[in-house]
Amino acid sequence: MTSNEANGVQKLPKSAEVVIVGGGIIGVTASLSLAERGIPVVLVEKGVVAGEQSSRNWGWCRQQGRDPRELPLMIESLRAWKGMSHRIGIDTGFNQSGVVYLARTISEMEAHDAWLENARRYEIDSQLISGRELDSLLPGSSDAYIGALFTKSDGRAEPAIAVPAMARKARQLGAIIVENTAARGVETHGGSVSSIVTERGVISCNSVLLAGGIWSRLFCRPLGIDLPQLKILSSVLRTHPIKGCPEVSTSGHGFSFRKRLDGGYTIAHGSTINYEIVPDSFRFFQQFFKLAWQARRELRPRLSRRFVVEWELPRSWALDRPGPFEQIRIMDPTPMLSELNQAMQNLVSTYPSFRDAQIAAKWAGYIDVVPDAVPIISPVSSPSGLYLATGFSGHGFGIGPGAGELAVDLITGSSPRVDPQPFVISRFFDRSGVGPVAGI
Ligand SMILES: Cc1cc2nc3c(=O)[nH]c(=O)nc-3n(C[C@H](O)[C@H](O)[C@H](O)COP(=O)(O)OP(=O)(O)OC[C@H]3O[C@@H](n4cnc5c(N)ncnc54)[C@H](O)[C@@H]3O)c2cc1C
Repeated sequence: MTSNEANGVQKLPKSAEVVIVGGGIIGVTASLSLAERGIPVVLVEKGVVAGEQSSRNWGWCRQQGRDPRELPLMIESLRAWKGMSHRIGIDTGFNQSGVVYLARTISEMEAHDAWLENARRYEIDSQLISGRELDSLLPGSSDAYIGALFTKSDGRAEPAIAVPAMARKARQLGAIIVENTAARGVETHGGSVSSIVTERGVISCNSVLLAGGIWSRLFCRPLGIDLPQLKILSSVLRTHPIKGCPEVSTSGHGFSFRKRLDGGYTIAHGSTINYEIVPDSFRFFQQFFKLAWQARRELRPRLSRRFVVEWELPRSWALDRPGPFEQIRIMDPTPMLSELNQAMQNLVSTYPSFRDAQIAAKWAGYIDVVPDAVPIISPVSSPSGLYLATGFSGHGFGIGPGAGELAVDLITGSSPRVDPQPFVISRFFDRSGVGPVAGI
């Protein structure tokens, strides 16, 4: 072993059965699954593993509130999360501490009740709880919440620990995972994928899995695939460890929190959707209209420098020189401090036990969203051999382990663990897709 390999910098091989683009939770769980199945796999990541959404998220692993089309895959994912620490030999922080959506009004309780129909269909333990039950579950509230939607079996995990640990396990099992290595594009032969061109060389392969998060649309463009994908900006903070605050992950009016493995809390506003208007906003206006309408009360559209940045993005580029993926190794947007301050105020006024919480860090992330807020896990019609696993629309961390496995089932021709039909990309092109059922 060279010193580079010992430091985790693996050599790029000339060929592999499967090449994965993107080292977020989706690409990493797919690489783990392929390595466990003994299939040669290379994962290329332009920055670092879990540098973007997959370490910046809240860490909720929930069934509650999901679009019913996702529920079978989410149930599979929870099963995978339960066994993950054992599987990779490191505590991922996974804990079935439950998820609560607070309700202030009868109409909010009714909306929660309407979703319960989905839970019943899949035998999920979600239930409506009264104000009194809420008081014993989440004591110390000073607000007049009248009840909540509660799912006891829902969980949480520690994103910044879990995903790199999964990548380390995949490496131990033979996966080659290279960081600081952007994939520039796909080469084809006779209509099929033949290789992937990276900034450090070409890897010939039979299949490519694109798990590129917010970059997937750009990657698809030169291939003639018009992936309908937009981004929203989400700001988060974490506190130092604090005692006496709730265990259950909770979403209220203008605050959300989740207890961390270190005893601190990950906190966000959660009741606003910050959306920067970009050229694609106009291009996809019709396709995203239903989703935007559904989220109209929370949606905060604004014009920013992002419009010009995306206006200047190329539609195609030569593969033998640096392309757009080498320009931004890690997308690290500025958090919206006013929103985070507001979230802290809302939280402390509802749960005064957070009064002494000391803020340790603040950050933001862009979330990739597709028109029905249901992910794409699917081959494309052309070139053959190219698969997408993207568009997780703000809830891909929890469903990640199942999604990565499903992508591998499709690539290897194994019997898929859940019906892959709801995730096909063609729903956006042949209009077979129904609109959004649940929100982002
Ligand atoms: C603030 C925030 C809160 C969230 N909260 C939750 C939550 O509580 N629960 C939940 O389930 N989900 C949550 N999400 C959503 C979740 O984080 C994402 O859905 C999930 O992480 C997506 O994983 P991914 O692997 O698809 O993408 P990413 O994690 O974004 O990874 C994609 C990777 O691909 C790499 N890449 C792209 N193009 C190339 C290229 N050409 N070459 C090489 N590498 C490339 C990128 O650098 C990136 O590292 C949240 C997201 C955010 C931002």
